[in-house]
Amino acid sequence: MGGRYLLRTFGCQMNEHDSERIAGLLESDGYVRAEEAAQAQVVVFNTCAIRENADNRLYGNLGHLRPFKEANPRLRIVVAGCLAQKDQGQIQERAPWVDVVIGTHALPGLLELLKRAETEGPQMDVREYTEVFPSALPARREVAHHAWVSIAMGCDNRCTFCIVPLVRGPQLSRRIGDVLAEVQDLARRGVVEVTLLGQNVNTYGRDLTVPGSSRRPLFAELLRAVNDIEGIRRIRFTSPHPHDFTPDVIEAMAESERVCEHIHFPMQSGSDRILKAMQRSYRSERYLSWLSRIREAIPGIAVTTDIIVGFPGETEEDFAATLDVVGAGRFDQAFTFQYSPRPGTPAGTMPDQVPKDVVQDRFDRLVALQESISLSRMREMVGRTAEVLVEGVGRKGGVQGRTRTNKVVHLGGDLAPGTFLEARITSAHPHHLVGELVRVTGVAAAGSQREPAAAG
Ligand code: SAM
Ligand code: SF4
Repeated sequence: MGGRYLLRTFGCQMNEHDSERIAGLLESDGYVRAEEAAQAQVVVFNTCAIRENADNRLYGNLGHLRPFKEANPRLRIVVAGCLAQKDQGQIQERAPWVDVVIGTHALPGLLELLKRAETEGPQMDVREYTEVFPSALPARREVAHHAWVSIAMGCDNRCTFCIVPLVRGPQLSRRIGDVLAEVQDLARRGVVEVTLLGQNVNTYGRDLTVPGSSRRPLFAELLRAVNDIEGIRRIRFTSPHPHDFTPDVIEAMAESERVCEHIHFPMQSGSDRILKAMQRSYRSERYLSWLSRIREAIPGIAVTTDIIVGFPGETEEDFAATLDVVGAGRFDQAFTFQYSPRPGTPAGTMPDQVPKDVVQDRFDRLVALQESISLSRMREMVGRTAEVLVEGVGRKGGVQGRTRTNKVVHLGGDLAPGTFLEARITSAHPHHLVGELVRVTGVAAAGSQREPAAAG
């Protein structure tokens, strides 16, 4: 086939990883990347549905593309991902110039749908099951030293605010041997850092059995096995769910030297009443007690979290409980979200939706508190040295990298992505550190890569 493609990605790491698969599929068919829509024969939007502003952005982007399509009727416009799964036929009703709507489970059929669109007109596949784990598709990875590795798709939980189970379906874990084969292959290609992806990594393997036994593989077991793979120097994962968290994961983290000292541990709210309404079946005391156990077992570990403000029925008292837990938890960073009602979710139709101005006010207070905590956490690093893995050019020149604790560090100089170095931290800001090079300690492979299909 061939031609040029432009790919825009919205949303979380799962979507970024799916986009690598979309790019891999297109490139396996001879497409090459375009820099702008005017050069492209295919434009793909890989969408997110988690909050309403993601919907608005997609329809805004489709509006911008309309004149391009009018000027070039052979341009193919594809909407993929969670919003495609959620809005289905509505997308082509609202934007009839869209050629292909492809849901989260239909990705392997992308090339076929594009070919059919040539002769048969607009196509849509939003099936609710998948026969092929997307990781079995070829991937076009942007950087040579880091890779996302999907360990499970979908989610069996029903947090009342969340649209993910509706658009990504139930949990489907990937066989442990296939995950390990992919990581081994990545290591052979020069990847030194992997991030294991799942909506709820603690329930990884619940839907599998270990070959030759009736036992289920566990996430802790997977972590230890990835830790044994030669060449991998940093292992990250996201996200564990506080409800399903187990001590064996802490032990595996503490005992696996390549597992980084960082955990993203989504709290959502500090109010027990709101956690119950969210159907998050842990309470703030249990959450904080996990934090203490994690910090005791892994000294210096950084903890980040997700918090939603303005869930339906949230009172000032509930919000005060969130501020209290944020104060007690002293997170390194928090991703803070204003609650966004999502169609089809129980919370979307709950009474007592909190007025926008109240949500905004609480959000601003939460952000101010967390920024001050983040800054004080960052300041603890000043004067110390830390291992930094260079990721690329910094926004203000020089280079940017990350510590094992996932803190962003800006450094002067010109160092290739994939360089490991020791840096002395000289100053701190709420979201990044500034450092100076002490010495280079190693270099991973350089350049970007396209890989063949991984195992299942
Ligand atoms: N599976 C992860 C977990 O349970 O922690 C969460 C995945 S979700 C893609 C990322 C974050 O988006 C959630 O932790 C939550 O804080 C936020 N989020 C999800 N639905 C939301 C909604 N309707 N409004 C605002 N924030 C939302
Ligand atoms: Fe959504 Fe809850 Fe599943 Fe996370 S665990 S994806 S928040 S339903």
